Amino acid sequence: MCGIVAYIGSKNCIPLLISGLQRLEYRGYDSSGIACIHKSTISDYKAVGKVKELNSLIEKSSIDESQVGIAHTRWATHGLPSEANAHPHLSTNRKFAVVHNGIIENYKALKSNLEAKGCKFQSETDSEVIAHLIEQLYDGDLVAAVASAVKMLVGAYGLAVIASDEPDKIVAVRNGSPIVIGISENESIIASDLSAIVSHTKQVIFLNDNDIAIVTASNVEIRNQENVPISREIDTVDWDFSAAEKSGYEHFMLKEIFEQPEAVGNAIRGRLDHVNNSALLSGLNMDAQDLVTIKRIIIAACGTSLNAGLIGEYYLEDLAGLVTEVEQAAEFRYRNPLVDAETLCLIISQSGETADSLAALREAKLKGSQVAAICNVVGSTISRESGRGIYLHAGPEIGVASTKAFTCQVSVLLMMALKFARARRYTYTDAAELINEIEKIPEYIDAVLKQSKKIEKIAKRWAHATNWFFIGRGYQYPVALEAALKLKEISYHHAEGYHAAELKHGPIALLDENFPVVALAADIDGKDKTIGNIEECLARKAPVIICATQGDKSLASYTKDLIEIPASSKYIVPITATVAMQLLAYYVAKERGEDIDQPRNLAKSVTVE
Ligand code: GLU
Repeated sequence: MCGIVAYIGSKNCIPLLISGLQRLEYRGYDSSGIACIHKSTISDYKAVGKVKELNSLIEKSSIDESQVGIAHTRWATHGLPSEANAHPHLSTNRKFAVVHNGIIENYKALKSNLEAKGCKFQSETDSEVIAHLIEQLYDGDLVAAVASAVKMLVGAYGLAVIASDEPDKIVAVRNGSPIVIGISENESIIASDLSAIVSHTKQVIFLNDNDIAIVTASNVEIRNQENVPISREIDTVDWDFSAAEKSGYEHFMLKEIFEQPEAVGNAIRGRLDHVNNSALLSGLNMDAQDLVTIKRIIIAACGTSLNAGLIGEYYLEDLAGLVTEVEQAAEFRYRNPLVDAETLCLIISQSGETADSLAALREAKLKGSQVAAICNVVGSTISRESGRGIYLHAGPEIGVASTKAFTCQVSVLLMMALKFARARRYTYTDAAELINEIEKIPEYIDAVLKQSKKIEKIAKRWAHATNWFFIGRGYQYPVALEAALKLKEISYHHAEGYHAAELKHGPIALLDENFPVVALAADIDGKDKTIGNIEECLARKAPVIICATQGDKSLASYTKDLIEIPASSKYIVPITATVAMQLLAYYVAKERGEDIDQPRNLAKSVTVE
């Protein structure tokens, strides 16, 4: 989720690693650390907070020069941000140190095995098992030990590993979490992100999944997991630092839109229970007996999280038959809500610090309601005070307008509804179909992203329009609200989301030939009635942009501006349609030259009421 830098060469690695970590600071993280080898001993330094804290710790300690070291900025997924949980993690004999990006799904089973063998764990992370595994498997050959260890890991990982007995190399591995190696004269730099490399060298090797790289000061050798050498191209990148930190995208928002297949993949990872066809979600800490005691769910949230909550309401009612209400969090708090011990108040907040949502959580607890939270930031106030919930694992979100956090929230809500549903009325067979669809979400999102050029063209055609409506029904109604919010946030155009049926109750009075209406009309329940509403708009000369299911010929006659999303179950449509709408908003704002990553008047985390 966050950052890795490692160095081997002729220079002192400490200042180079610190500056590499600073290059990764833009990603947002909670702690950092360094481990390096000096005279066959590994020293490690860790600090919570900014890299400058780590730097001042290192300045105060009399640290010896070292020519090989690994460093990490952590964005916690397992275990709160703390010194003990910061990487690098060392094995029990302190001869091996590891930095890890990603999530190890089977860490609990591995940990109890390793503890039984006498390994002493220092942290609550999923990552620490890797260091102990390597120690157990080591037989005088670090590469062989790492290769055997990674075969036992389930999950996503980018790794850099050092061993005090083999100070001439760093072993790096990639599986689902990027690793790139920069090659320069008499030195090599490994990083999770080009931004930590481009100031040293433009010659780089991108690892593929399952590659194991043996990196020395003068050579990079790559093998597969069967220990067979493979060749990888050396690429020359011409990016400067600013392009590198956005992975070549023009804005963080676009980068995050394109990161969604991976982010949602992480949100789903290890959470589907194929034995019972349910969802695991251990953070909810509720077994079937607890789940059936809940008679009502109230979702309290603000902004984009509120829109995700509305989709959650449909899921919980549709799948689990649970009465669900969605409340603006500030309203929930001030209107004396009716809750009881059979109500679950579910708070949704990307940052976990949203002031109104936090106040709603406290009010719900005070009134004796059960509570849970869906947050992205581990250890945030809402996640701590709720005591149970589900983390998104979306990775840090930098663009102010939320994108990947939203699709991860919706994916998590769908899994949560599946869990409640299985404890109630949903059959094993129906659940199998849904699980299959949930696993395909990253693929479905990919298919939408492939439409980006076409969406850009449509956005350019209509970027001048200063008023927009977005309409939808059923699962596409909350998408209309989220689509309007995205457009407002970054393009400053006036945009409103309506239920498609609502237009004729007033808003339709505003329509004319300069007022585009975006109709969310994928081929699921409600489409036919939405076609009627499209006709009403066309009759008022309003231009209509339609978001439809790929291959649905019935809508082509209504517009030239057709955006297509892949055919999927109705539960997936709010995700794919939203991704299409994020791209539309992005390209409209880009065409207008707006400051997309820092829109005026907005803050990423709203910590005031
Ligand atoms: N899952 C690991 C942890 O929580 C790694 C997180 C990261 O990628 O920063 O420590």
